[in-house]
Amino acid sequence: MQTSRHRDVRASRRSSKGPSTVQLHRHTQKHPDAALRHRSEQFEALLKHLPLAAFAVDSDFTIRHVNSVALRFFGDIPDVLGRDFEEVMHIVWPKRHADDLTRIFRHTLETGEPYETSECIERRADRDVTESYEWRIGRIPLPDGRLGVICYCRDITRRIRTFEALRQAVESHQQQVRLFDGIASTTPDFVYVFDREGRLRYANRRLLEVWGMKLSDVIGKTVRQLGYEQLHQDLNTREIAQIIETRRPLKAEIAFKSPITGIFGIYEYILSPVLDPDGEVEFIAGTARDVTERKRAEEALREAQEKLREYANNLEATVQQRTAELQKTVNELEHFSYSITHDMRAPLRAMHSFAALLLDDFAPALPAAAGDFLKRIAISADRMDHLIIDALDYSKAMREELTLVPVDPEKLLRGMIASYPSFHPPAADIEILGPLPTVMANHAGLTQCFSNLLDNAVKFIAPGQRPHVRVRADKRDAMVRLWFEDNGIGIPPEMHERIFGMFQRLSRDYEGTGIGLALVRKVMERMGGSVGVESEGGGGSRFWLELNQTKPESAG
Ligand code: ADP
Repeated sequence: MQTSRHRDVRASRRSSKGPSTVQLHRHTQKHPDAALRHRSEQFEALLKHLPLAAFAVDSDFTIRHVNSVALRFFGDIPDVLGRDFEEVMHIVWPKRHADDLTRIFRHTLETGEPYETSECIERRADRDVTESYEWRIGRIPLPDGRLGVICYCRDITRRIRTFEALRQAVESHQQQVRLFDGIASTTPDFVYVFDREGRLRYANRRLLEVWGMKLSDVIGKTVRQLGYEQLHQDLNTREIAQIIETRRPLKAEIAFKSPITGIFGIYEYILSPVLDPDGEVEFIAGTARDVTERKRAEEALREAQEKLREYANNLEATVQQRTAELQKTVNELEHFSYSITHDMRAPLRAMHSFAALLLDDFAPALPAAAGDFLKRIAISADRMDHLIIDALDYSKAMREELTLVPVDPEKLLRGMIASYPSFHPPAADIEILGPLPTVMANHAGLTQCFSNLLDNAVKFIAPGQRPHVRVRADKRDAMVRLWFEDNGIGIPPEMHERIFGMFQRLSRDYEGTGIGLALVRKVMERMGGSVGVESEGGGGSRFWLELNQTKPESAG
């Protein structure tokens, strides 16, 4: 059995046509040694010029002739010539292969049948390499007249390696193609490749599906040949020329009805150059995306925004118009209420004066009850007049322009205290813990606020107690807080916010209209300030006014 790994073994077994052993023996007997030497030299010369490895073994299986190429094959084995073939084979090859070779050589020697194999790949026993050979043997008469076996052998290791490398390259290339196709086919985009002449070289699955074609139907075709119109062909040609020239990608958008599918669509596409090793454009790779839906949504959004803008503009105009109308009406109403309120004071004053006259001049003639009624009329008229004055002040504060200037609060307060007997002893003690910083305020507005706070501070006091009010200031960043601390009846915490509303009065035991603090808040707001109160109820109140501090340059 032949166990050697001989691929594509084409052993040809023909019967030998060479001379028989008997004929040769007879022939050599006639010639002397010189003839033998001559033949031997001739034989060596023949082997020497062969481009292949060649060696011959004689009928005793001794290696007799080896050319220089074959010597390289035998390598490091010393004195190959004259050594036993079988022994040498067992040095060079593993036992199994050496046995095979010995058997094949012996068969050829005995029968004259030549043998050849085109590819023998074997790991060597004497070197750490695998070698590939193509070899053949035949039986020939050797120069000594006896029969021997000649072996021609070509090292095809490099050829085999080249083939293997080529096979691997092809496999790897095919793998790359499968990989690329796999990737390109999973995207919902269209992927395609053109050559420089605009012929399609690749189209991914998605594109083929849309076209309803097979890859083999489209490869090598131009856009026009695929069924697109001439204008698309012209566009494609122009774009490819541009990419070849610039070597830069190109991004564009196109809207059209596909002649292949009959569907209208908007497509965004990018064409990119694929460069060869010299940097020249070899192919043009394209990806395209159907953006029809997105474009429609964008268009709808744009229209909606446009409409919204239109509505907003109309709305603004309407609001402006209505505001102007409303402002006009408010102004008219304010003017009306101001003048009517103002005019109401004259009959009130008349009522008050006549009631006082009646009391002064006719008191003894009147019954006691009548005198009492007259007093009540006078008091009511007086209260009504206060109400009207407060209401007029409030509406003035609402309408008037309040110009802010630096005001010295201490000076203002001292002037007020001096002018009103109710603010100084024995009626009350008002203490100013100066100096108080200058603030930005409207003079009349601030006078009004101070007056209301001081009025309340000396008014809301328990019967029999003498009011004591302390005014001081503290600074908070750019603001100044002016404190008015009294020893009055105090305000329950839940009422701290309410008392700044219109007509809010916590007690009917004290005279008042409930407008004063509302007026203070309004005026403070219009001066860019604020007002508040701290009080636990029962133990006095601490009202504060906060205003912008005068800037250094305006203080001077
Ligand atoms: P009026 O003083 O005319 O009643 P205000 O608007 O000035 O109206 O004050 C509203 C209410 O707040 C007062 O009626 C009073 O009940 C309460 N109030 C204001 N200031 C003080 C204060 N210093 N101490 C106690 N209660 C006060």
